[in-house]
Amino acid sequence: MISAALARAHHLLNQDMLGYLDTVELLTNDQDTDENTVLAVARTEVPRLIAALRGTLSAHKVDGSGLCLSCRSTWPCPVIDRAHTYLKDPDRILDDHCPC
Ligand SMILES: [Zn+2]
Repeated sequence: MISAALARAHHLLNQDMLGYLDTVELLTNDQDTDENTVLAVARTEVPRLIAALRGTLSAHKVDGSGLCLSCRSTWPCPVIDRAHTYLKDPDRILDDHCPC
C-alpha cells in the first residue's frame, strides 16, 4: 500500500507523460498540423522518444539464468514483449487497451 502523496505523485507523473505523448501525436498529425511544424516536432521529439524507449528496454536485459534483470520475469519479460508487439503493430495498442 502506498501513501496518498505517493499515489498523487504517480498520477501526476503518469499524466505528465501521457500529456507529452498526446501533444507530440497531435503536432505530428499531418491532417491537423502544417508540414513545417510536423518536421520540426519530429526532429526534436523522435530522438527523445527513441532515447526513452532505449533507456526503458536497456533496463530489461536478460541475466545468466534467463530472467529479466529489472522485473525478474522469464525473458523476454512483459515490458520487452509489449514494446516489441507495439513497435511491430502500433494499432494493437488500441485493441489491448480499448474499454469497448
Ligand atoms: Zn523486464
